[in-house]
Amino acid sequence: MTAELIDQNALARFWDAARAIVGEARVFNSEQDQLSYADQMAFDLKSHAPAGAVAAQNVDEVRNLLKAASATRVPLWPISRGKNLGYGGSAPVQAGAVILDLSRMNRILEINTALGYCVVEPGVSFFDLYDFLAEMGHPLWMSVPGNSWGSVAGNALERGVGPQPYGDHAAQICGIEAVLPDGSLVRTGAGAIADGKAFHVTHNSYGPGWDQLFCQSNFGVVTRLGLWLMPAPEATMTLELQLPEADDIAKGIALFQPLRQRGIIDHDAAWVSYVGIASYVGPRSMFWQGEGLLPEDAGREIRQKLGIGWWNAQVNLYGPEEVIAAKARIISAAAQAAGIAAPDWLTWRKGDDFGLSRAGIPSTRDMMMIDWYGGRGGHIGFSPIMPSDAKLAAEQFTRTRERYEEFGVDYYGAFGVGGRQTVAVNEILYDRDDSDQQRRVNALFEALIQDTHQAGFGEYRTHIDYMDPVADTFDFNGHALRRLNQTLKDALDPVGILAPGKQGIWPARFR
Ligand code: ADP
Repeated sequence: MTAELIDQNALARFWDAARAIVGEARVFNSEQDQLSYADQMAFDLKSHAPAGAVAAQNVDEVRNLLKAASATRVPLWPISRGKNLGYGGSAPVQAGAVILDLSRMNRILEINTALGYCVVEPGVSFFDLYDFLAEMGHPLWMSVPGNSWGSVAGNALERGVGPQPYGDHAAQICGIEAVLPDGSLVRTGAGAIADGKAFHVTHNSYGPGWDQLFCQSNFGVVTRLGLWLMPAPEATMTLELQLPEADDIAKGIALFQPLRQRGIIDHDAAWVSYVGIASYVGPRSMFWQGEGLLPEDAGREIRQKLGIGWWNAQVNLYGPEEVIAAKARIISAAAQAAGIAAPDWLTWRKGDDFGLSRAGIPSTRDMMMIDWYGGRGGHIGFSPIMPSDAKLAAEQFTRTRERYEEFGVDYYGAFGVGGRQTVAVNEILYDRDDSDQQRRVNALFEALIQDTHQAGFGEYRTHIDYMDPVADTFDFNGHALRRLNQTLKDALDPVGILAPGKQGIWPARFR
């Protein structure tokens, strides 16, 4: 999709309307602004370059901006903080769309310590919420994604995950306020009662549940979001596990799956390959200075130097000490029975250094991985969801690693093991200034989409470059799901102004 599809006269009228709604100071449409809202990890900043941005500060402004977009037919792309790195950052699918920047709507509206939830505006960052809860003495614990630069709401809406008991962030969403493309304001569930007291405590209100309607969709702009948080536990226990060989992954999945399903393990524990761990320590040149794929012996040296396995996992338990100590014994025994060395657990008790607590503490350390090859770095994630099945995971790993090697990219994968589903996160690291690598990374990504589709899985989330090809893989009954999405899109957004192309959902006029 090119920017030419956006009428430039209409765009000029939209900018006038936007200035009237939010004032000159919150309209950003210089060339520099266009670049600063582009995908900072893109090989080509122009491929999804927005026309600029407009920042809303309250719900009325959001409503009026959507009405102005409908009147001028200019598409808007909402972002909460725009740190969706590896998936497109703040950039739109459709080049020439205007970014609707919600980062200034950053009030924490409620922390309910008794019922265990928070209510946030979209611009509240993980760091904001963490600081707020820290001031209160950490009565509730958060789950944070590996790189926690972004917003609580944006990440949950995109179905981000964290290695915490409440780590399925979309599943914790309870009660949303959203502006529909025509500018009307709705509240979901029990929030639809004018002074609804149960807005953020139940998924099961009257009639259909619409919270998930706003996840990974382009059906509304979320202006307020309730999210369940974990009550602070009395203690935590931590176990570090390693698998020495690549082929051990089946063993690792088989260990975690039943323990997770039966509630012995409290969270989706991830097996992370050693390149991932090494990339958090330093660039590849710190370990090996050659060109091309990292050779086997250099890999072995890295593992020895860092004292890590081919696969590495951390299991954390949360709760009263007598409960988690009993769980720890069961897990250690299961690991030993599987031939996996289980060292001693570390225990944290309330009052100890909070930094060691295994609470979700926001950090940007994981972003270090983009320096792996040197140059201006970037990463893109390929993340299919599959059953938590040891054999299927082993096959997925072998197939994926062979593809990485075919295209000359160092394999970095992680398997986040749930009781039923496993998220296979494959990070593809690159140097943005290496055009040959760009070609290979693109070919690798396309091959992974096809291979994974053939295996019967699909990605749970994808980069803006691949939203259509990934949507193509959801092909039951001649893409019936796409038709359903389009029917909804046309009903809610007849002019086609909200995030066209997101998740492969295009409004009628762009199809
Ligand atoms: P983060 O704030 O975590 O960095 P982003 O703001 O980049 O996340 O959001 C990621 C994607 O989620 C956006 O590109 C957009 O498609 C969608 N999104 C984010 N916030 C909203 C919102 N408030 N309403 C609707 N969609 C949103």
